[in-house]
Amino acid sequence: MDAGVPAYRRRREMATATSGAGRCRLSKVGAGRRPPPARVRVAVRLRPFVDGTAGENDTPCVRGLDSCSLEIANWRNHQETLKYQFDAFYGERSSQQDIYAGSVQPILRHLLEGQNASVLAYGPTGAGKTHTMLGSPEQPGVIPRALMDLLQLTREEGAEGRPWALSVTMSYLEIYQEKVLDLLEPSSGDLVIREDCRGNILIPGLTQKPITSFADFERHFLPASRNRTVGATRLNQRSSRSHAVLLVKVDQRERLAPFRQREGKLYLIDLAGSEDNRRTGNKGLRLKESGAINSSLFVLGKVVDALNQGLPRVPYRDSKLTRLLQDSLGGSAHSILIANIAPERRFYLDTVSALNFAARSKEVINRPFTNESLQLHVLAPVKLSQKELLGPSEAKRARGSEEEEIGSPEPPAAPASASQKLSPLQKLSSMDPAMLERLLSLDRLLGSQGSQGTPLLSTPRRERMVLMKTVEEKDLEIERLKMKQKELEAKVLAQEAADPKEKENYSPTMLRPLARRTVTVAKPLKKAVVMPLQLIQEQAASPNAEIHILKKKGRKRKLESLDASEPEEKAEDCWELQISPELLAHGRQKILDLLNEGSARDLRSLQRIGQKKAQLIVGWRELHGPFSQVEDLERVEGISGKQMESFLKANILGLAAGQRCGPS
Ligand code: ADP
Ligand code: MG
Repeated sequence: MDAGVPAYRRRREMATATSGAGRCRLSKVGAGRRPPPARVRVAVRLRPFVDGTAGENDTPCVRGLDSCSLEIANWRNHQETLKYQFDAFYGERSSQQDIYAGSVQPILRHLLEGQNASVLAYGPTGAGKTHTMLGSPEQPGVIPRALMDLLQLTREEGAEGRPWALSVTMSYLEIYQEKVLDLLEPSSGDLVIREDCRGNILIPGLTQKPITSFADFERHFLPASRNRTVGATRLNQRSSRSHAVLLVKVDQRERLAPFRQREGKLYLIDLAGSEDNRRTGNKGLRLKESGAINSSLFVLGKVVDALNQGLPRVPYRDSKLTRLLQDSLGGSAHSILIANIAPERRFYLDTVSALNFAARSKEVINRPFTNESLQLHVLAPVKLSQKELLGPSEAKRARGSEEEEIGSPEPPAAPASASQKLSPLQKLSSMDPAMLERLLSLDRLLGSQGSQGTPLLSTPRRERMVLMKTVEEKDLEIERLKMKQKELEAKVLAQEAADPKEKENYSPTMLRPLARRTVTVAKPLKKAVVMPLQLIQEQAASPNAEIHILKKKGRKRKLESLDASEPEEKAEDCWELQISPELLAHGRQKILDLLNEGSARDLRSLQRIGQKKAQLIVGWRELHGPFSQVEDLERVEGISGKQMESFLKANILGLAAGQRCGPS
C-alpha cells in the first residue's frame, strides 16, 4: 500500500521521480528563460541509529526500497507496510555529499537566473535536521557546501570581463515563539515580515552581511549560530527550539546596457522539531515553546493542504514561519523539502506524521520567475564597472576600506586586455543620462518588436555597433539643435538691440529654445480700455474735451469687428464719435508706433486686436518691414478697409482714456 498518495498522483510521481532532473551539475545558465511551473521536490533522509538513541533489541521501523521509495510498518495492520514514494530517498548509509549533490546542488543554479530557491529540513527532534543542514567539521552539511559552491560560482560568473557583476550577502534569523530575531544583530528585537508590490517577502531591518569568501561566511555565521536558542529535552541533548533561517542573496548587475539587475534568494532552513508535544516530557517554558513550534508547523501543514486543494485562501499569514515561506511554498521558489526521519521504534508516530506531511508537500506547485528589473540609477553600476576596469592593484586601492572591512580575498586577476575590450563603457559613463535613457528605451522597443528572443543589445559586438550608430545619430541631432538654438538666440539679441523696451516686453517663450523656457506667473491684465458709456458721456461733458459723442437713435447699422468673421446687423441706438484732428493725429502716430515696435502682447492691448491678429501683424512686419501708416494694416490679411475707421476711433479713444486714467 502506498500511504496517503492517490493512484493518479503516484503515476505522475513515478514519471517525474525517475527523470533525473535533480542530478545535473552546477553550470552557467542561459538568461531570461522563464521556466515552467516547478513542483516542490521532496527527499526523505533516514538517519542511522546513533549512540545512545537505540534501545536494547531496537530494530528499525523504516526500510528503504530504492532511491525514491521506502516502507514503514503499518501500526493498524501488522500484516502490511505503508509505502511512500518521493523524489529521492537517502538511507542510513547515505553521505552528506549524496544528499547535497543529489537534491540541493541542482537548484542553486537558479539563483544566478535571478530566481529563488529554498531548502527546508523537516522532521521530529533528533531525526537529523541539523546534521543534514549544518553537519559537523568532519561531515559538513548542506549549508557549508551550498555556500562554498555558490561563492565559487558567483566568483566565476562575476569575474571581470563577464557581463554581470555579482555580489552575495547573508542574513541569519530565527523564529522563536513567533518572534523574528536577527541572529547577526540579536539586539534588534522582533522584526516584521513584509511583502513588496511584486509579492517578494522581505524583512526590513534585517542585517545583511556581504560575503565574498567562505571565510567571510564563517566569520559571521559561527558566532551567530551560538546566539541560537537551544535547550535540552528528553528527546535530544541539543534540541533546537526555534526555526533557523539562513538567507543568502545573490545580486546581479549587468555591466552593459540594458543594465538589468537580478536578485536570487536562497533560504536554507533548519526547522524546529515536528514531534508531538505530549511525548517530549516538556513542562513550563519548554511546553510553551513546543506549543509555539508546533502551532507554526501546524499552520505549515494547513498551508500545504490549502495549496493542494486549490483553496482561495492560503493561510500564510497565520504564522511567522509560513509568512516567511510564502515565497517557497506555492510561491516563486525552487523548493526542496528534506524530511528527516529516525529508525527507532519510539519515533514511529512522529515518523509517520513526518512522512505524511512530506507526501502532501510534494503536490505543491511553485511558479518560479526571474526577479529582474532595470537598475534604478543606471550610471552607478557604470561607475562600478569603471572601478572594475582598473587593474587588480588599482581596483584594490579603489575598494579601500570597504574591502578591508569584509576581509575578502583578491578577486581573480583579469587579462590585461579586459579594460581595452570594454572601452565603450567609458563612453557610456560620460553620456547624458537622458540620452542613455532614450537608448535604453530604444533597446527595449527593439526588444519588444523583435521575435528573436535575443535582445538587440545582449551580444557585445552587435551592442557596440548599435550603440555607436545611435550615439552618432544623437550627436548629429544635438549639433543640429545647438545650431538652431544659436540662431534663435542671435535673433533675440538683434531684436533686443533694436528696441531695448522690447527686451522688457518680449516674450521669451516665443523664440527661445525649449530648454530656456521659464514658467512665469501670469501678470494681472492692464486695466481695460473699453470705457463704459457713462464715462464717455462724462468725457463729452468736460470743458477740455477733444472728443464729442453724437447719438443717432434707431439707425440700422452693421457692427463690425476685426475679430468677428461675419459682421452682424443690428438695429439699435448708435453713437458717433467726433475726435479733434490733433487727437486724431496724435493717436494715429501712437498706433503706428505700436504697430511697428510693439510685441504681440502689446498689440493685443489695441482694441479689436486679438492673439491671432497680433501674430499676423508681427509676422507681416518681419516680412515687409515697418508700417508707414496705420492704413497699411489693410494689407495685413483679414483687416479690411471698411474696418479701418472704426478701428482708429476705438483705439484713439482707448489710448486717450488710458492717458487720462494714468499708467495702469
Ligand atoms: P535534529 O536537528 O533533527 O534535532 P540532529 O541533527 O541534532 O537532529 O541529530 C541528532 C543526533 O543524530 C546528532 O547527534 C547527530 O549527530 C546524529 N545524526 C543525525 N543524522 C545523522 C546521520 N545521518 N549520520 C550520523 N549521525 C547523525
Ligand atoms: Mg536540530
